[in-house]
Amino acid sequence: MSSSTTAHDPNCIFCKIVAKQIPSRMVYEDEDIYAFHDINPWAPVHFLLIPKAHIVSMAHIGDEHASLLGRMMALVPVLAAKEGCNPYPKGGFRLIANTGAEGGQEVHHLHFHVMGGPRPWLRG
Ligand code: 5GP
Ligand code: ZN
Repeated sequence: MSSSTTAHDPNCIFCKIVAKQIPSRMVYEDEDIYAFHDINPWAPVHFLLIPKAHIVSMAHIGDEHASLLGRMMALVPVLAAKEGCNPYPKGGFRLIANTGAEGGQEVHHLHFHVMGGPRPWLRG
């Protein structure tokens, strides 16, 4: 594992959420992936999908992550529907990965925002 991918960073808020040291409202969990409701939702449905391993951002993704990311992407429509996003095409959702300072990333543990539900939204 490179320094940008560690099993657990003790200073990382999302690693603490994965370790259940900080409570969260879980949406999904398996061996490698965790999903939970955003604490400050922009939309009626707003959850975060993260790898359990501490991968810093999309800028740190390489070929070795292809299968993990593929599994995460395949979960997006399933979890979006489960959490109440309406069906495509009238419903749908937004999928966002803020990356780096100019990309608006505040938490430096890779996460995909999934937002949906009836508009208007608070933001987004
Ligand atoms: P970013 O700006 O890095 O893409 O998004 C970070 C997201 O994490 C924000 O939407 C913020 O509300 C959410 N967040 C930050 N701290 C916590 C927390 O302790 N619990 C939960 N559930 N969400 C958090
Ligand atoms: Zn982390």
